Amino acid sequence: MAGRVTFTEDNVKSTQADFPKLKLQKNGDCARILVLEDPLAAYIHDLKRPRIVNGQPQTKVEERKDGTTYTDYVKDFISRPLCLGDEGILADRGLDPNHCPACKLASQGDMVDPPKRRFAMNVLQYVTRPGSTDIALPFQVSCVVWAFTDTVFNKLVAFKKEHGDLRVHDLLLGPCTNPAFQKFDINISTKAEWLALEPDELQSPQFVRYLECLSGIDNLVVDTTLEGAGLHQTRRGGYLNVHADFTVHPKRRTWRRRLNLLLFLNEDWQDEWGGALELWNRWRAREAPQYREYYSIPGWQRAAVAVVYLGLAAALTVAMSASYVERNL
Ligand SMILES: [Zn+2]
Repeated sequence: MAGRVTFTEDNVKSTQADFPKLKLQKNGDCARILVLEDPLAAYIHDLKRPRIVNGQPQTKVEERKDGTTYTDYVKDFISRPLCLGDEGILADRGLDPNHCPACKLASQGDMVDPPKRRFAMNVLQYVTRPGSTDIALPFQVSCVVWAFTDTVFNKLVAFKKEHGDLRVHDLLLGPCTNPAFQKFDINISTKAEWLALEPDELQSPQFVRYLECLSGIDNLVVDTTLEGAGLHQTRRGGYLNVHADFTVHPKRRTWRRRLNLLLFLNEDWQDEWGGALELWNRWRAREAPQYREYYSIPGWQRAAVAVVYLGLAAALTVAMSASYVERNL
């Protein structure tokens, strides 16, 4: 996954492989994670070479499902390069020899396999008790990249079909039975632990860390004075007009507003009463169907986080745009 790299010494000689990854380290390890986004998918070749001993390629006898046997080369793993093929051609034919040299080799013999899809996405990993998926205290999370194959992807599709939005269900991984191949069971929890945070925990370092992971903005500072924030009540029929929030703190001029957290305290609010939060891209496009869907907030998501970017304030005021900007985690 591509990402910005700061000009700091710890990034010298650093590679993509240095991203924090979800990895169960040893047998019996477990993890509890939360899926935040849809994964990136790419076709990858699994490059291997035959093992040569004394100038001879090594072979082994393999068994087919029907019990018959065949002889195959013993191969060692080299690397997993991106397939250079065209995605449409790969989806149709499984190989694109005209654009990808590895595909060309795969089309000429069985030393190189056709590319397979691999997936990667950011997930929140909770700190759990050793060998358990139970949350450790104090509550802590980190943001890591989880890379996986079709098998796991299909499992997540099945989870989503049965349980709906994955962001309200933690995934329980483990115990690990083979760290080298990352073999472990995946189950889905009835709830997501982060949703169980009490309101007085909204200013806690743990929750702020969670927001940093969610937004990708490091070193967030909580405005404990709640300037322009706090409890708000709107009476029946009342409303707040479309507006852009201040981006520079009125009293601490070096502070920039980066996140808004809106927590609705109405219990059992019915959709037909209206009164919903509306985040608009452009006021004039407010009726366009694509914006309706894009800016709708699911009922479960009582806490909506709006990202405010520096320099956007003027544009917002002029264009009457809302303070929400789509971003990819
Ligand atoms: Zn290829």
